[in-house]
Amino acid sequence: MARITISLIKADVGGWPGHSWVHPKMLAYAAEKLADAQKKGIIIDYYVFNVGDDISLLMTHTKGENSADIHGLAWDTFREITDNISKRLKLYGAGQDLLKDTFSGNIRGMGPQVAEMEIEERPSEPVIAFAADKTEPGAFNLPMYRMFADPFNTAGLVIDPAMHEGFTFEVLDVVEHKVYLLNTPDESYYLLGLIGTPGRYISRKVYRRTDGIPAASVSVERLSLIAGRYVGKDDPVALVRAQHGLPAVGEVLEAFAYPHLVHGWMRGSHAGPLMPMKFVQIEPEKKTAMGPRMTRFDGPPKIGALGFQLHDGYLEGPVDLFDDPAFDYTRQLAAQIAEYIRRMGPFQPHRLPPEEMEYTPLPKILSAVPPIEADEYEAKRSVYLEEKRRAGKVSAPQPTQQPTHD
Ligand SMILES: [Mg+2]
Repeated sequence: MARITISLIKADVGGWPGHSWVHPKMLAYAAEKLADAQKKGIIIDYYVFNVGDDISLLMTHTKGENSADIHGLAWDTFREITDNISKRLKLYGAGQDLLKDTFSGNIRGMGPQVAEMEIEERPSEPVIAFAADKTEPGAFNLPMYRMFADPFNTAGLVIDPAMHEGFTFEVLDVVEHKVYLLNTPDESYYLLGLIGTPGRYISRKVYRRTDGIPAASVSVERLSLIAGRYVGKDDPVALVRAQHGLPAVGEVLEAFAYPHLVHGWMRGSHAGPLMPMKFVQIEPEKKTAMGPRMTRFDGPPKIGALGFQLHDGYLEGPVDLFDDPAFDYTRQLAAQIAEYIRRMGPFQPHRLPPEEMEYTPLPKILSAVPPIEADEYEAKRSVYLEEKRRAGKVSAPQPTQQPTHD
């Protein structure tokens, strides 16, 4: 059996309405495009789904990671959806994640999120595809740690000999562009020291220590660092293999039973709980799944999980893995946390800290109210106060022509 590559590539190429959902025609278009690629033998199998306003293309093939054919197929699909559907229907932020004009062989760094894994298919190969909206790649840091390094989440770390030696985490520093390799359990505290800063250090891949097989892959593209301006949050995707010396499916999902706070809600500028969600409608014959909508304050941040059994590269599924009443409590708790933190309005920690607001229009807005040196002011307080009292209203800077994707 040839090695199989699983590629999960997602982009926001237009919302319906605003940033809440995708239009069903977009998923249908993507599914037809990938069906055609399957007929031509470019991919073995595929599935198309969304969470909120992001379209995810799950594809299996034998071309390895970073294949120009596969990345080009995803790019063309997103481009065509933008031109043929999003722009015609004037969907919101049409093509917003497509940051470059022409495809140059690799979709990384061009806007879409990419999670890939080249694997030797095991006798039984359960794979889970995750997509999250209104958050960022580092949102997976905590659950990845739970799945692969926390015995209170994953019983197998204690009782399965194949997992007993632990896992190697590959952590990317997206600011300095450096990689850390850390073994758990030995280097857990170093690992936590880094990935506890999820806006900068992202747990990108996880490997099993006994034999080095890949166990998980998370997308790491940070749109603001690519574009140098605010272009929406980097709603991430992830792939996780399960069972037989890896966390059980239920151990993988257990990592999402606690709705931890993540960054990226409303205008990419707020923190909120990550809510595990069911899909709205699954159509296996069309190979599409409509995911949850993002409506309260464009959120709260949500994650969907589709489970598949792989056989010779074919995706048997999907099973909607958060469609279980046992996750109702998590959803209820997330709704309560959403209600609680919303009351903070524009205050931290609901609104993100200044370094996270750097790429939003806020710094420009604040430039309209220049400060006075404190010593200077203390010396001439009455003059400044009188001047201020007589001054006209401060006017906010005019919006630039550049789209901000608010
Ligand atoms: Mg999105």
